[in-house]
Amino acid sequence: MFSNVVGHEKVKSVLAASALGNRVGHAYVFEGPQGVGRLTMAKAFSKLLLCENSSEGEPCGVCKSCSMCQSGNHPDVQIITNQLYDATKKSTDVLVDTVRNMKKDVYIKPYASERKIYIVPRADTMNLHAQNSLLKVLEEPPEYCTIILIAENSNQFLPTILSRVVQLSFFPVQNSMIEEYLRREFPSMQDEVPAIAAMSGGCIGKAKMLVESENVMQLRNELFACVTGMVKKGSRAAYDLMLLLKRNKDDIKLVMDMLRELFRDLMFFCQTGTCEKIGNRDRSAEIQKIGSEIYSDVPVKLLEILLKYDDYFLKNISYAQIAQCMSLEFWEVINDRSYRS
Ligand SMILES: [Zn+2]
Repeated sequence: MFSNVVGHEKVKSVLAASALGNRVGHAYVFEGPQGVGRLTMAKAFSKLLLCENSSEGEPCGVCKSCSMCQSGNHPDVQIITNQLYDATKKSTDVLVDTVRNMKKDVYIKPYASERKIYIVPRADTMNLHAQNSLLKVLEEPPEYCTIILIAENSNQFLPTILSRVVQLSFFPVQNSMIEEYLRREFPSMQDEVPAIAAMSGGCIGKAKMLVESENVMQLRNELFACVTGMVKKGSRAAYDLMLLLKRNKDDIKLVMDMLRELFRDLMFFCQTGTCEKIGNRDRSAEIQKIGSEIYSDVPVKLLEILLKYDDYFLKNISYAQIAQCMSLEFWEVINDRSYRS
């Protein structure tokens, strides 16, 4: 249902109003971070537009069109990927051939309804040729056609494309809404919900991925153990952290997010003396214990180090070396000393 999309009230009201007033655009850009809910919104909007008995900006959920949308089989809703037209294509960037194939389809009238909807994930990966090809459709779209371009960064689009679309921005969803969603959808996960919501960065898709991934909680346990170990002055713990980083090279972004959340929680505790609003609420005893054994400016310094290395991990520098240096810097800051000076 349209109303079941978590957050994004402003976007929802704009879309619902356009459907109600019969002022639906021929093209939209849904811009926002990955996992924030752009594709879910695009599907919900399609359902609303195609529903045979929609009322007050909501699809009925029971008509033939709604059930086809729910099962992902509506002939007039297409999710455009390279593989839709050519299963052998490997590229995840939207290719010019794909846009050309979509264009051929655009000019064929709808099969089962009054409208045809094209959803293009990763649309901002189209190169100039692909964008120019798409532009032709946007200049003279058939009356029944609506194209939704999903993008992380709309600056990647030609100005001539942007001038022909309705741009809607998706911002991270409030933690409390993500928590509510997780509690409802995953009743067995109550304790960890605040930590997962905090790690999700306001992206419901990421929150779901974290819940469904088996080793996330294990990884968090190991990270807590490393930081606790470092507070106990053990340089062994810095070494353990380095090994952990090396083992989790493919998930380094997740590891960095977890460390960020842990350090933020420590900062919050050191500044306020409470654990009321921390992300790792289920681990507040440990946060308190670590927080009371370090200087109050340590968490900020840890966050600064993290920020610096975030950048290094993205660049093409030796992963093992970065992992080693970062672990050592954490240890030095926590123990207020430097072995290198
Ligand atoms: Zn319906």
